[in-house]
Amino acid sequence: MAKSEKNTVKKENVSVAALTSLGCAKNFVETEIAAASFLQEGIGLAAEGEENIRYINTCAFLKSARQEAAQHIREAGEWKKQKKGRLICVGGCLVAHTPIEELKKEFPFVDLFIGIDDTSSSGKLLKELLKKGGTGKEPSTTKEFIYECNTPRLQLTAPHYAYLKISDGCDNCCTYCLIPSIRGKLRSRKPESIIQEAKNLIDSGVKELIIIAQDTSAYGKDLAGKSLLPELLLELDKIGGDHLLRLMYLHPAGVTDELIHVLKNMKHLVKCLEMPIQHIDGDVLKNMNRKIFEKETEEVLKKLKKASFALRTTFMTGFPGETEEAFGKLLSLVKKFKFQRLGVFAYSPEKGTPGAKMPGRPSAKTGEERRKIILEEQAKISEKYNKALLGKMVEVIIDAPEVENVWVGRTIIDAPDIDNLVYVESFDAVLTPGMRVKCLVKQVSMYDILAEYTPAKKKK
Ligand code: SF4
Repeated sequence: MAKSEKNTVKKENVSVAALTSLGCAKNFVETEIAAASFLQEGIGLAAEGEENIRYINTCAFLKSARQEAAQHIREAGEWKKQKKGRLICVGGCLVAHTPIEELKKEFPFVDLFIGIDDTSSSGKLLKELLKKGGTGKEPSTTKEFIYECNTPRLQLTAPHYAYLKISDGCDNCCTYCLIPSIRGKLRSRKPESIIQEAKNLIDSGVKELIIIAQDTSAYGKDLAGKSLLPELLLELDKIGGDHLLRLMYLHPAGVTDELIHVLKNMKHLVKCLEMPIQHIDGDVLKNMNRKIFEKETEEVLKKLKKASFALRTTFMTGFPGETEEAFGKLLSLVKKFKFQRLGVFAYSPEKGTPGAKMPGRPSAKTGEERRKIILEEQAKISEKYNKALLGKMVEVIIDAPEVENVWVGRTIIDAPDIDNLVYVESFDAVLTPGMRVKCLVKQVSMYDILAEYTPAKKKK
């Protein structure tokens, strides 16, 4: 960008940003932190169309995510051309993943790249740029940031649910995963900071806390040399109220008997756990460096099932070592365990990961075909689960109004944004987001449900 244009920015006092958060909920929390830092510096927030700053918090976990980020940045570049004084800031995982020289070359129109460790000073950096013009500060290259309960954060989810990020980074080094190199080493928040933030969120009206991290079961290993997740959950469960706690991203190798015992006895915990298994074949798991094998994985699954937990998992097809036989085992597991919710990715090699150099990778086409086979199997399972609910009462969390007399929500086991939906008709009562109501299931499809809420008549 020419210097004269930067000076125009200064004169016009640009101060309204539109935010785009790509990728996962963990990234979303950082968008919330950046948003708060903008407000602190007097930079307003706006919907697209009203803004003169675009902030894009990127994901870089997979090539497809980087392509999506690039597309958003290029679109912002086109938007910038239309009017002088517009600014573009790019933060998040792409900035941690790709060397800054390459980013500047690919996106010369971006005014400010924000490194992970600068997340909470995003507003300050932007304000400086607005005042002084020129090029923004170089992004930090360290990866040590983890927010605390006193870090300003603007909740951008619906008011009734919020993410509680308990750690960042990962030390697991799964051979397909770029996360440790992008997000850095495991760093856990202090338990007091997490508990205080949970209390603050609940006091402010949050009804559902979604506990997240790259690997929640590893929480505290960097602080105490062992997982502190059981202790943390016990403390979180003591907070009074009728809120829910939802636990995501457990690594099966970290699901110990001690943890299961705690999970079983928690009052606030949703009886559905998110636990990415990735595969079941021993050789594939070894190649993936998942630190758990077939027998142990099945044992964990059995124990969780016995404790009446529904499970959401993720699988990866087409990883090196996945023979026909290995894939057959994965398909059998899907048929046998009948996971309530399931996602599948076809492996795509990421440069810089050990998996990318491993021999024995099935073709990309085979990986994709296998992904589809698993999804088809899961669709049948999902339909069966839904059909079993026909004519029954289910508890639904109301998320938002849809059209007149219809609200959209989810069953208790479903997490916002990623899971199935329930459309709730209510003709006699107005529902509000965050309400939990018992509804009669009237129609089901493979994934979604139509239900009706009728308020109980008061006895005379
Ligand atoms: S547990 Fe494995 S897959 Fe998950 S973030 Fe860590 S390295 Fe990546």
